[in-house]
Formats: sequence, structure tokens, C-alpha cells
Amino acid sequence: MREILHIQGGQCGNQIGAKFWEVICAEHGIDPTGRYNGDLDLQLERINVYYNESSCGRFVPRAVLMDLEPGTMDSIRSGPVGQIFRPDNFVFGQSGAGNNWAKGHYTEGAELIDSVLDVVRKEAENCDCLQGFQVCHSLGGGTGSGMGTLLISKIREEYPDRMMLTFSVFPSPKVSDTVVEPYNATLSVHQLVENADECMVLDNEALYDICFRTLKLSNPSFGDLNHLISATMSGVTCCLRFPGQLNSDLRKLAVNLIPFPRLHFFMVGFAPLTSRGSQRYQALTVPELTQQMWDAKNMMCAADPRHGRYLTASAMFRGKMSTKEVDEQMLNVQNKNSSYFVEWIPNNVKSTVCDIPPTGLKMASTFIGNSTSIQEMFRRVSEQFTAMFRRKAFLHWYTGEGMDEMEFTEAESNMNDLVSEYQQYQDATVDEEEEYEEEGAEYE
Ligand code: GDP
Repeated sequence: MREILHIQGGQCGNQIGAKFWEVICAEHGIDPTGRYNGDLDLQLERINVYYNESSCGRFVPRAVLMDLEPGTMDSIRSGPVGQIFRPDNFVFGQSGAGNNWAKGHYTEGAELIDSVLDVVRKEAENCDCLQGFQVCHSLGGGTGSGMGTLLISKIREEYPDRMMLTFSVFPSPKVSDTVVEPYNATLSVHQLVENADECMVLDNEALYDICFRTLKLSNPSFGDLNHLISATMSGVTCCLRFPGQLNSDLRKLAVNLIPFPRLHFFMVGFAPLTSRGSQRYQALTVPELTQQMWDAKNMMCAADPRHGRYLTASAMFRGKMSTKEVDEQMLNVQNKNSSYFVEWIPNNVKSTVCDIPPTGLKMASTFIGNSTSIQEMFRRVSEQFTAMFRRKAFLHWYTGEGMDEMEFTEAESNMNDLVSEYQQYQDATVDEEEEYEEEGAEYE
């Protein structure tokens, strides 16, 4: 068995993490006490990827929950799946991080990190063959972002050959009123570029727009945003949790999607989009699902794929449907839009069908794309960062925790480099490669 260890940190990380467990427990037929009450062998076939089985036959999430204040975790404990987690795996402090990345990464978080690592180690030792980790966090606050990336770097040090997947929530002024979020996010991206293998980008800006424009919610709450996130997380992990060939573990997912190691930030999309409590029971057709999943409006990242090109992409369809029809529809999209796919990676779109649909839907599909257009989101954060950093505004909160201004400069240029790299591959063509080879030939 190839186990995954799940970690959630900070307010956002804990809230989306708890939702994730609620959703996958329902899909695998695990009730809130950890007992199996399902009726399908497939639900249990790969249950060990995310759950430990206790001696009394209960399924316990292989999850570590951390925070620098007790509030969010208290409400998780009293929430719908609160009792299913291993009580020892709740690790929390009392100080809070005050939306300050430096407190999470260097001071308050650094004090608590060893207690978290103890629990991580214990879970890892219990595994037969750990494939890797997944971390849920926001990048705009202090704990999930600062302490989250500290934990990621410590894990990388201790488990260098295991995979690290993140579900990272990017900040948007549309849903938050803390001005320093671009600082926290940029410092985090600097870490994620180096220490994470694959990052699923969940951009609050796009999530807000989907709620507001498509779902017609006039005042979207975090609950509404998190409903979209949990549906997407369930879709993204579906291939890891149920039997199948494509993307069946974290490394295979990475191999298919990452042509260059730094470019591991993925746009994810979901279809059909539904709001909380109003699941649509009517079945969509495969062509409709396909059309929607490629639509910029369904992407959880505020970037338009038509402003860039796809390096690679993966699609997971769920429910009873014809694989042949899926393949045809997917090829159809690629043929009609060939200029949006780099031609120097042939067959760069993969798709698969998993029989089990998400709870409450007959069919759904999830999209993971490595699109150069994601630079639009990084540019947005970078502009907000630079506007403040130019004047050194709010810097004293960070230097006061012992941080050097240099780290800000480095983070800024690392993110700008990332943007340039996306641009470079967006512009690259096969012809250039040929010219390059010809020049090489002449040289010989
Ligand atoms: P932390 O507890 O210090 O990690 O801080 P938060 O997780 O509260 O980080 C603040 C950032 O996360 C802001 O950008 C918020 O908009 C965002 N955020 C907080 N809670 C949620 C949530 O439940 N869902 C979503 N989508 N974003 C959240």
C-alpha cells in the first residue's frame, strides 16, 4: 500500500481540510465514527491510501492538524467529522500568528514545529510504504503560510525522496481585508517553488468570481468557497483513492504534468459547478462536461488559459459513461484549439474515467492543467507585493520577528523569474528547437 499523509494548518487549511475529509468519508462510506457503512468493494480497495485501520476495525484519517491558536480546531472537533480524527494529531499553540508570515515561519511557528514533526514521524513510521504528503493551507495568513512552508521544508529535509503535494489557497482582496497578504503569499511561493513537488492552486479571486458570477451568490462566504474547493480536492485525489491506471499515485501525477521542475503550479477546474445545498441531479452529457471543464469560467485560478498555452493537462471524469466518448470529446477539444497546446510535447493531455461519481452527482469531471497563463495570477500578487515593498510599508512587522529585508528581495525575484519562465515556454516553438539543432549540427 502506498500511503499519503495529510496535513492541514492554519484557519483556512483546517477549514478546507475538514471539508475534504467530510467529502471523502462520504465517498468511501465511512461514517463520522470511522465505521464502514458502504456497499461497494471499490470504496475499500484503496482505503489505506488516506486512512489507517485501527485494531477495532475503524478507519482513522491519516491526518495531522496544526494551528497557532485553538479556535478553528475546536470548531472542527465539534463539527460533522470532528470525532473521526486521532485526538493526539491535533497540535496547537495559543499565541496566534497575526497574519504575519514571519511569526509562522521563524518565531511562534518555529517553537511548535517539533511537536508537529513528532506526530508526522509517528504516522510515517506506521506506514507500509509512504508515497508522500499533502498539505492544505492558505498563503495569505501567518500560520498556514509561514508555518506551513516551514513544515514543508522540514519534511523535505527528513523525507527527501517522498512526494510533496500542496493545496494552496492564494489571497484576493475580494475576500479578505488584510493588506499584508501579498507579502505572505510571495514569501510562501518562494518556498513552494523549491520545496514542493506539485501545487494545486486554489485562488480566492477565482473562487469568489465563480460564486458571484456563475452561482449567483451575492455575498459568498468561506463556506461557499470551500464547497468548490472540497469538490475539486475530491476530484483531484480521486485517482489516488480509487483503483485505476492514470495518475494512480503522486509521482505518476507529477511525471505526467511537470515538464520542468519549477513549473509545478496547476490550474484546476471542476464541472458541473454547483452551490452548497443545491446539487444538480440531472445528468450532464460527456460533451457538456468536457466543454465546461475546459472553460476559463470553471477554473479555480484567476487566469485565462487562452492567454497562454498548455504544457500538459489531465482530466478525470467520474460516473458511468463511455470511455470512448470521453476520448473522442477530449481529442475534439485539442484538435479545435491546437494553438493552445505546446506542440513540442506530443500527447500532452491525458484523460481517465473513474466509475464512482462524487456524492450527489451522476457525473462530474475534474481538470488539472499546467498552463503558462497561470503567470497572470503570479503577476497579480507580484504587483501588489511590489507596490508596498517599494516603500517598505509594513516591513517592520517582519523585521521585528528577526527577518532580513533580503529575504523579501529574493522572494520577489524568485516569483518574477517564475513568471518569465512561464513566458519563455509560452513563446517556445518547435521551429526554434529545430534551428537550435541545426546550429548544433553546423558547429560539429
Ligand atoms: P492562518 O490561520 O494564519 O493560516 O491564516 P488564514 O488561514 O486565516 O489566512 C488568511 C487567508 O486565508 C486570507 O487570504 C483569507 O481570505 C483566506 N481564508 C481564510 N479562511 C478561509 C477559508 O475557509 N476558505 C478560503 N477559501 N480562504 C480562507
